Amino acid sequence: MIPTLNADLHCHSVISDGTLTPEELAQRAKNNGVTLWALTDHDEIGGQARALAAAQAVGLDYLTGVEISVSFLDQTVHIVGLGFDADNAPLRQGLQRTRGGRAQRAHEMADGLALVGIHGAFEGALKYAGNHDLISRTHFARFLVETGVCKDTYEVFRKYLTDGKPGYVPHRWATLKEAVSWIREAGGLAVVAHPARYKFSANEEFALFTEFKGLGGQGVEVVTGSHSAAESATYADVALEFDLAASRGSDFHCPTESRTDLGDLPALPTQLTPIWSLLQDRIHKAPAAA
Ligand code: AMP
Ligand code: MN
Ligand code: MN
Ligand code: MN
Repeated sequence: MIPTLNADLHCHSVISDGTLTPEELAQRAKNNGVTLWALTDHDEIGGQARALAAAQAVGLDYLTGVEISVSFLDQTVHIVGLGFDADNAPLRQGLQRTRGGRAQRAHEMADGLALVGIHGAFEGALKYAGNHDLISRTHFARFLVETGVCKDTYEVFRKYLTDGKPGYVPHRWATLKEAVSWIREAGGLAVVAHPARYKFSANEEFALFTEFKGLGGQGVEVVTGSHSAAESATYADVALEFDLAASRGSDFHCPTESRTDLGDLPALPTQLTPIWSLLQDRIHKAPAAA
């Protein structure tokens, strides 16, 4: 039996919409007792070399990671990739294409906000984006908190940045097939991120997992900062039903915003196959302590 370990395979740095650097995240993960870590920035692997070096410096085992934005049945679905070759050219090009259009979308979001009297949101959000190639709704949310429009980022999403609200702009991301293929062809495993967050009917969710499995997807996040205990139990059953391995990750973004800190999660249910047991040869082991 594989011993339980504190794996946190989902979080964000300043290279996407987190507020900590890869080095700060590695140190925080280490301090919190994480032993196996992956940085999974949105649509971007520009932080992977730094994350690996930082993991080695503090003594964490490391898996390469990314969280790809996908459009499926008119919703945005996130697919986490783990254990791929970060130098793989088709993966890099696919992610670059997925990032394209974010600036245009951000201008349209700012236009929508201006119509309800919130001005200067594009420039305001851009100020928070460590990577101007990756301006995200999270950066707008921080700007609206800074200017006192809302008390926290959750309120911003509820009132301004979700479907039907003034700052929401529908967007076409990668297809499920593209995301899974890029990850697989770069030698990694694809994982459906935080499935309880989507608003699919039972039939639509079945279609998502059926298509994902058919494309060669191999995992689902069962334990995440986005799931209640009941939701984790539901997706443990889905993992068994679709013969998928299970992943675990906080989805940590920021010390003052995120409700779940790095590594601060329940263990995976023991009847499931941990995704890292399929990735043993892809783990960059921490140098043995001196
Ligand atoms: P984007 O990729 O620009 O659409 O931004 C998506 C990001 O916004 C997610 O990765 C989360 O970090 C954040 N987010 C999405 N929905 C919510 C929500 N309801 N509450 C708080 N943050 C959210
Ligand atoms: Mn995010
Ligand atoms: Mn996500
Ligand atoms: Mn995430």
